[in-house]
Amino acid sequence: MTPADLAEALMACPSVTPAVGSVFDTLEAMLAPLGFRIDRRITGEAPDGPVENLFAIRQGPASSRHFAFAGHLDVVPPGDGWTSAPFAPERRGELLYGRGAVDMKGAIAAMVAAVRAVPQDAGTLSFVITGDEEGAARFGTLALMDRMRELDAIPDLCLVGEPTSVNRLGDMMKIGRRGSLNAWLEVAGVQGHVAYPHLADNPVPRLVAMLGEFEAWELDRGTDWFQPSNLEITDLEVGNPTTNIIPPLAKARISIRFNNLHSGASLSARIAKIAARHGGTARCVISGEPFLTEPGPFSTLVAEAVEAETGVVPEASTTGGTSDARFLKDFCPVIEFGLCNATMHKRDEAVAVADLDTLARIYARIALAALKG
Ligand SMILES: [Zn+2]
Repeated sequence: MTPADLAEALMACPSVTPAVGSVFDTLEAMLAPLGFRIDRRITGEAPDGPVENLFAIRQGPASSRHFAFAGHLDVVPPGDGWTSAPFAPERRGELLYGRGAVDMKGAIAAMVAAVRAVPQDAGTLSFVITGDEEGAARFGTLALMDRMRELDAIPDLCLVGEPTSVNRLGDMMKIGRRGSLNAWLEVAGVQGHVAYPHLADNPVPRLVAMLGEFEAWELDRGTDWFQPSNLEITDLEVGNPTTNIIPPLAKARISIRFNNLHSGASLSARIAKIAARHGGTARCVISGEPFLTEPGPFSTLVAEAVEAETGVVPEASTTGGTSDARFLKDFCPVIEFGLCNATMHKRDEAVAVADLDTLARIYARIALAALKG
């Protein structure tokens, strides 16, 4: 089967996040004949689960290096207006259409094709594949990592196959991602008549002052590898329809994308302090810590593999949203490299068939070089 054939087989299995079942059966049927031992588990309950996770490992010689491919088989809901059915992959011209084409069943197909080119005595290879990346990610890669610890199967290097390329395959890889935090802010007051303010306590001016302080906060000026951290006010709510009432409560929400000069905990503490200064409270939810794999041997190896197959030297970027690399970085250096992301999460998501072939060759080069160490 060509990489496109493999991708089609995966894309034909509906797997809107959180995913279980047939798409994992299909991947297992691809990996088992290649000598992989497969461990599948279903965890979690609604609404964020149940989630299926698959860890597959092909052991190399004793004390050989261990290289992991990581990714997800769940996809975002297709939405309306597709030219062909989202879960009935269709080739039209040079392109293969269907939900998951680039994000990221196409990349997983390329990984499967790549390992066919890696002899077993080259080292240990594994697949770390979750059904919960596009959703809450509560039962996904974190659960997989627990299982890998139990199996004593911690990789030395890991490549995540998210679609990182922009204008053409190979032009960008991710060596890091920013962290993400949202904070729900509240200021309570005392309701009353606007004509008798001494009998009331208006929370709105205090919330406005608090937001002013957040807006003026320069988190940092960026680093060699990251753009400056950014804070946005994303909601502001008083909900008072009555002209002569001082409202009892004012609420707002802020969202921060932050680089590795901060942690979720350090920001939460600072936010709570600012909120308290204005008589308010803050509830912070950290949806991802930042990660950075500093440019070095691993990024060089990936860049050389990409250049050898495409003639392009990938830019080492830290832009974009969060990914499962935010968890996997606790095991080993992680880099993300994959297909062009122009159509991800859109209707008529599509991948160039030729890119799947090229990506499979790039992944094979990366695996071989990573196992050599
Ligand atoms: Zn993805």
